[in-house]
Amino acid sequence: MSKDTVLIVGGGPAGLSAAAGVAAAGKKAVLVEKEDRLGGAPILSGYAKLVPSGEWAKDAIGRMVDGVESSSNVTVHKSNKVTKLDGDAGNFTATLSNGETVNAGSVVLATGFTHFDSINKPEWGFGTFPDVITTTQLEQMVGSGKIACPSDGRVPERVAILLCVGSRDRQIGREWCSKVCCTVSANLAMEVREMSPETQVFIYYMDIRTFGLYEDKYYWKSQEEFKVKYVKARIAEVTAASDGRLLVKGEDTLVKRPIVIPFDMVVHAVGMDPNEDNPEISNTFGVGLEKHGYIERAEHYTNTAGTTRKGVYSCGSAYGPESIDDSISQGSAAALRVLADMAG
Ligand SMILES: Cc1cc2nc3c(=O)[nH]c(=O)nc-3n(C[C@H](O)[C@H](O)[C@H](O)COP(=O)(O)OP(=O)(O)OC[C@H]3O[C@@H](n4cnc5c(N)ncnc54)[C@H](O)[C@@H]3O)c2cc1C
Ligand code: SF4
Repeated sequence: MSKDTVLIVGGGPAGLSAAAGVAAAGKKAVLVEKEDRLGGAPILSGYAKLVPSGEWAKDAIGRMVDGVESSSNVTVHKSNKVTKLDGDAGNFTATLSNGETVNAGSVVLATGFTHFDSINKPEWGFGTFPDVITTTQLEQMVGSGKIACPSDGRVPERVAILLCVGSRDRQIGREWCSKVCCTVSANLAMEVREMSPETQVFIYYMDIRTFGLYEDKYYWKSQEEFKVKYVKARIAEVTAASDGRLLVKGEDTLVKRPIVIPFDMVVHAVGMDPNEDNPEISNTFGVGLEKHGYIERAEHYTNTAGTTRKGVYSCGSAYGPESIDDSISQGSAAALRVLADMAG
């Protein structure tokens, strides 16, 4: 019966968790993922060791993918989108891009986020200099086992990680903190130091938001055990030095002096933008978006998984910048809501 089936859109940590929750309760889930693989950003972007477990993303999230793909209660449609949703809560009919239709009592949007495109911050050198990369590229470099400058393969003597690229930046319309990038950057800095002890790592920051228990495990540990250096600064630009290295120019905001420091590699700690599909998702599913373009919550306390449309729920980074752990918890919360609807 369609009422006892839930349609889950997006196969990242949040959607996998929602599907696993529904399946564990003996109900049916249909999971629709637009890419050809499940796992969401940690798998699609090739993250290395995750915060805070230290486990490789391919193992940790891979375990979630295996659980869902081997469940007889979950039907997975990869390389597909939902193009149309008819009906109401308790009796929806979704049309997929492959032409199939799915009947479901409720829908969970676990459609996640889009990485900020550093091309939108041209003065910081991305797209101009090959040795200016993003944290997702650094994750892949760590995963490959070798830290090397893309331009010529040399081991970098000095690496700068610039925080808040595409977050907390009103000039480019990003008025949010992406929540995980301070901690992720401290984690990456330690991984670089461990793999390449001759490489010095500097983190340029406005303020450090290694929230909750991460202060000790990442902020202090990276400085005290791994000798990562933190520079409180406003960055003006990244340019080329005459010897081919990169110059990070800005103002040290502690001593209020201009600083120009040469680096071999510069890393943008990119933020979490709303999913670029959200206008289309809003249209197809009839859900509202909040002012920045993330999916709008129904309310915060008694219906935290709810959207503005009855019977359509959401979870994880579709609602705004979120960590993997919290996305997984929210996926479970969404599963509980749809199970309650089925019972009701
Ligand atoms: C560089 C970087 C490193 C990070 N490292 C960590 C870390 O170590 N620890 C941590 O806790 N967090 C980390 N994060 C945050 C982490 O990426 C998110 O918390 C997590 O990916 C959110 O999971 P999600 O399922 O909500 O979204 P996503 O991972 O974005 O998954 C959404 C899924 O939905 C699919 N989708 C999107 N739109 C559609 C559509 N229209 N139709 C069908 N499918 C669709 C996508 O293809 C994707 O598979 C990091 C973030 C960045 C930027
Ligand atoms: S978590 Fe840190 S790097 Fe990310 S936006 Fe917030 S303050 Fe900036």
